[in-house]
Amino acid sequence: MTTEEKVSKTLPELGVTETQGVEALFAEVRAAMEGERAELISRGAPASHHERVCKALRDRWLARKNGLLARLDEHWLKAAPRELKPAVGKCFNELRRASAALELKELIRTVPVLPESPGTRPPDAARHESLQESLPFEIPGDVAQDLTLPGYRRPLGTLHPITRVQREIEDIFLGLGFWIENGPEIESVYYNFDALNIPESHPSRDDWDTLYINAQTVLRTHTSPVQIRAMEKYGAPLHIIIPGKCYRHDNPDSTHSPMFHQIEGLAIDTDITFADLKGTLDFFAKKFFGEKVRTRFQPSFFPFTEPSGEVAISCIFCGGEGCRVCKESGWIEVMGCGMVHPVVLRNGGIDPDKYSGWAFGLGVDRFAMLKYDINDIQLFFQSDVRFLEQF
Ligand SMILES: [Zn+2]
Repeated sequence: MTTEEKVSKTLPELGVTETQGVEALFAEVRAAMEGERAELISRGAPASHHERVCKALRDRWLARKNGLLARLDEHWLKAAPRELKPAVGKCFNELRRASAALELKELIRTVPVLPESPGTRPPDAARHESLQESLPFEIPGDVAQDLTLPGYRRPLGTLHPITRVQREIEDIFLGLGFWIENGPEIESVYYNFDALNIPESHPSRDDWDTLYINAQTVLRTHTSPVQIRAMEKYGAPLHIIIPGKCYRHDNPDSTHSPMFHQIEGLAIDTDITFADLKGTLDFFAKKFFGEKVRTRFQPSFFPFTEPSGEVAISCIFCGGEGCRVCKESGWIEVMGCGMVHPVVLRNGGIDPDKYSGWAFGLGVDRFAMLKYDINDIQLFFQSDVRFLEQF
């Protein structure tokens, strides 16, 4: 006979007619109660179920309505024959004192919380069943399916800082009327070098330290091949930005990564001059880094632009006074730029006598490092949640 069945009968119905029998019966019930508690404590309960499981055991014994002790009170104590009442009363009080260990607070304190791996959680119904199988008492279905209980929160990710910065840069140029163009990361040597006026003998071809797949195919070293592809596809006029991953044969350190992100801009139209380039990049720098930022253009060399320049911004950390980040110069170099080389325009099928254009290229990772004051590019790619959840 189960404990439930016993507490549903009166003492005479159970054949108990003397004090000894009463004591034996109560001892049996107490052993069952303490056994269930001990079993739950030895088993523990997963964090998401912990309180529910503790409450189920508490309710089974102590619920005011229909708990085992309440039924016992009803059928054994209240309905006890007059001569057994003192013995039943005494045993009942002892049982009640012992049942304090089943109070919810007490169970929550003593039942161990088991770790739970989020990836392997069975769906709710299956969880209820598997949990039920492992426990000696019944978890009421209406508790397990109580729709008023808070749901399981699944952790939501955030945008990666690189994605964030890329989108921010894209937004600024989309607002200026540029559109976004993409191209393949596995690129032909022709688009990556030759079409961009970087012939085989050119020293900059070594400078790239390229990852070759075979003699004719590379992992693109910059987003510039998309310039040619877009010129071929759309012709002039053209106003595009090209975000994407690039690859170079670099050893990873705090400022280098074999995979990194670039955004390239290209504007081709009639009467495009270096003044357009300066105006656009100055506007962009102020939008991205803040209105106080000043820009500086210095001559440089790239095979695909003529003239070429390096763009520096006034140091955003010291305001141009000189500090550790800007190496006391007050300036931070952030972009390369220039007027598109006539040969490049011609390679893209555009007449350099009719059209002119400018281009720039920047490192998204570097912009993100400057924006968030991060000193190691590797942090972006190590998938360390402690780092990523700060964004
Ligand atoms: Zn500085």
